[in-house]
Amino acid sequence: MALYAALDITGLDAGLALAVADDYSPTAAEEHEGRLTVFFATAIDRDRAGEALAAQFPAAHTTTRDVDDEDWARRSQQNLKPVTVGCITIAPPWSLTPVINSQPVIPNLQAANLVLIIEPSMGFGTGHHATTRLCLAALQMVDLTEAFVLDVGTGSGVLAMAARRLGARAAVGIDTDADAIQSANENLQLNPDLNGVAFERGDLYVALSSPAFLSSLMVLPSSQPGSARTTVDVVTANLTGALLIRSAELLVNAVRIGGHLVLSGLMQSEQSAVLEAFADRTVPISVASEEEWAGLLLRRTL
Ligand code: SAH
Repeated sequence: MALYAALDITGLDAGLALAVADDYSPTAAEEHEGRLTVFFATAIDRDRAGEALAAQFPAAHTTTRDVDDEDWARRSQQNLKPVTVGCITIAPPWSLTPVINSQPVIPNLQAANLVLIIEPSMGFGTGHHATTRLCLAALQMVDLTEAFVLDVGTGSGVLAMAARRLGARAAVGIDTDADAIQSANENLQLNPDLNGVAFERGDLYVALSSPAFLSSLMVLPSSQPGSARTTVDVVTANLTGALLIRSAELLVNAVRIGGHLVLSGLMQSEQSAVLEAFADRTVPISVASEEEWAGLLLRRTL
């Protein structure tokens, strides 16, 4: 039976603990009676996260555990209920939420109740994290009709699929993590009406540094007959503040002038640094926050 490397954390605010753990590729987290448990793909990542937490927050108490996956799945499934952000509801497969409207193109968004079925798994992105909700809210501020969307760090695939539900013509999600791509593809199968969505394993630095990358995506046809697609209309990137800053130029390059970037994964304390990293070629359209997290909607100007 597969075992997952888990770190139990007490004596520290869950948001702060997750912000530190986030640099070590956590795959899932759950909070129960004041104890935060963060799951990692490997024991090495888990142990490094534990050391970083101990160094930054000496008062925090951490213990390591190996959890079998059935146990994790059972408990997390009990915890996960549908989450609604604006007109979109993220529901687990066993939820009683009726699939009221599964049309991908919605003439009247306000009146719509769009449902996405997402299986809680080790992939991040069930709608239970504030940063996913901030991205879902920002996506609804953009007219996605006929848009081509690139979701960088797709996790469960939630943002790519949501973009398509909200009217985008096509959406591609990329992620470095093979498990994330697998869970995104499984989630896509749970929403069989969603065509025009694809997931590919890839690192944003490699993918977005390659001029051929966007034009190679079959689901994103070229912008004009005979010319390769080099940009999309919207990039979503729910990563970390540090990663957004480091990859700002590549992310902006991937969006057409006048197109939008939906960014989250940054903490409010990182907001001004992230805005600064994008300031040369974008203007902020919306800056929102939930808990200690921030969500940004930027428009590319240059
Ligand atoms: N988009 C989902 C998941 C965000 S979690 C949501 O909004 O809920 C961030 C994801 O980014 C993780 O799945 C992680 O594997 C991925 N990631 C981290 N660094 C990356 C990189 N350099 N290139 C591509 N994906 C990356």
